[in-house]
Amino acid sequence: MYNVKSLKAEEFISDKEIQETLAYADENHQNMEFIDKILEKARLRKGLDHREASVLLACQDEEKIKEIYTLANQIKEDFYGSRIVMFAPLYLSNYCVNGCVYCPYHMKNKHIARKKLTQEEIVKEVTALQDMGHKRLAIEAGEDPVNNPIEYILESIKTIYSIQHKNGAIRRVNVNIAATTVENYRKLHDAGIGTYILFQETYHKESYEKLHPTGPKHDYAYHTEAMDRAMEGGIDDVGLGVLFGLEMYRYEFAGLLMHAEHLEAVHGVGPHTISVPRVKHADDIDPSAFDNGISDDIFAKICALIRISVPYTGMIISTRESQQVREKVLPLGVSQISGASRTSVGGYAEPEIPDEVTSAQFDVSDQRTLDEVVNWLMKLGYIPSFCTACYREGRTGDRFMALCKNMQILNCCHPNALITLKEYLVDYASEETKKIGMELIERELEKIPNPKVKQRAAETIGEIERGHRDFRF
Ligand code: SAM
Repeated sequence: MYNVKSLKAEEFISDKEIQETLAYADENHQNMEFIDKILEKARLRKGLDHREASVLLACQDEEKIKEIYTLANQIKEDFYGSRIVMFAPLYLSNYCVNGCVYCPYHMKNKHIARKKLTQEEIVKEVTALQDMGHKRLAIEAGEDPVNNPIEYILESIKTIYSIQHKNGAIRRVNVNIAATTVENYRKLHDAGIGTYILFQETYHKESYEKLHPTGPKHDYAYHTEAMDRAMEGGIDDVGLGVLFGLEMYRYEFAGLLMHAEHLEAVHGVGPHTISVPRVKHADDIDPSAFDNGISDDIFAKICALIRISVPYTGMIISTRESQQVREKVLPLGVSQISGASRTSVGGYAEPEIPDEVTSAQFDVSDQRTLDEVVNWLMKLGYIPSFCTACYREGRTGDRFMALCKNMQILNCCHPNALITLKEYLVDYASEETKKIGMELIERELEKIPNPKVKQRAAETIGEIERGHRDFRF
C-alpha cells in the first residue's frame, strides 16, 4: 500500500507505514549500535529517511541527544552559515467557511471581528511593513470562495509588489492560502509568488477529519495532495508544516518526512521550507483542549532532527514561540524567523487595542519590534538577512538545492545577506543596532572565500551609503 511515488495521499502518507515506523522506532530506540550507525549516516549530510529519523526521535539517551544537537548545529553552519532570513506575515482576510476546531477563524465563531483588507488598506499595511524594514512577506487568508476568491489574492499580490515607499520594497511574497486547483496554482506562479506554504495540520487522517469537521478543508486527500498540484502548476518552492499539539508528535514527524520524501521522489525537489507551529491560545481557542501539546525539549528535538534529516530544507519559526524558545532552537537549524508580526487583519497600520474585539488568528509570544529582533540576533552571533535574491534570480526548486548542496552559500547567500543587512541598517535601524551591525558586516566580509566576490561585496556595501539599493549576487 505504501508508495512514495504514488499521487494518492493515503499511499504516500500510508497510515500502515507510519504505524510500522513507530513500532520500528520502539524496537530500536535503545539499540545504541544502530543509533550510532544512523548518526554516522547523518554526518554524511545527505539526510535520513523517516524510519531512521523516527528511531532517533524515540531515543531518550542524553548523550545521543547531545550528539544530535551538535550535528544539527554543524549542518546548519555548513549549509546556512549564521544567516537568519527575516519575514513577516500579512493577514489579508479572516473570512473563512471552514470549521477547523483549533482556529478562531472557523465559521461558527460569531464574536471574532471579521475583516478583509481593501487594496487601499493593503497599501497602508505594506507601507507600515516597509517602514519597519521588511522585504519578505507571507500573505495569509481564510478560505472563502466568495470573500477571498483567487482574483482577490492575485490583485493583492500585485498591489503588494507595486508599492514603493521611501527605500522600501517587498521583494518576495510567499503565500499561505487554502489548498486549491492546479489552475489557481498556475495563476499564483504567474503572479510571481515565492513559496507556496500550506500546513498539513495533521497527517493522521481520522483526526484530520475530526479537526476539520466542515467546509472544503474537511477533504483530507485534497489537502494532502495540494503540494503535488502546486508543483504541477509550476510552483517549485513549497513549504510544509504540521500544527504540533493536534496529534501525537511522533506520528506527525514521520508523516512530515514521508511527505518530503514523496515530493523529492515525484518532482525531484523536496520542500523549500518546513514550519513547526504549535497550537496557541486565540479568541475562542484554548490550547489545553488539545491533548498532544509538546514540551519545549521535544520541540527542540524535533527541530534538530528535521535539520539533520532534510539538510537542504529551510526551517521556519514564527512569533508563536517566545524569545526564550527561539533562542533555544536557533542553533539547531532554524533558517527563517518572523519579526514584529501581527496576526490581526490590518494590525500593522492600526494595531488593535487590548480588550477590543479581535481579528487575530492567535496570540503572539514574541512581541518585540523588528529592530529589537535584529539587534538580539546580532548579539547572539547571527546575521539577520533580508535577502530575496535566489528567487529573483530564478534559483528556485532544484536550482536552489544545487547551490546549497555545492556549499556555494558563502560566495552567494553570505554577501547577499550582508548587503541587505546594510540596507536595513542605513534605512531603518536604531543607532545602537546600526553600530553593532556595521561592525558585524566588517567582520563577516572577511569570510567570503572568493576574492573577487569579496571585493565586489565590499564595494556594493559602500555604495549603499551613497544611496544605491537592491544589488544582488
Ligand atoms: N486558511 C489557510 C489554510 O487553511 O491553510 C491559511 C492558513 S492559516 C491563516 C495559517 C495557519 O495558522 C494554519 O494552517 C494553522 O496551522 C495555523 N493556526 C490556526 N489556528 C492556530 C492556533 N490557534 N494556534 C497556532 N496556529 C494556528
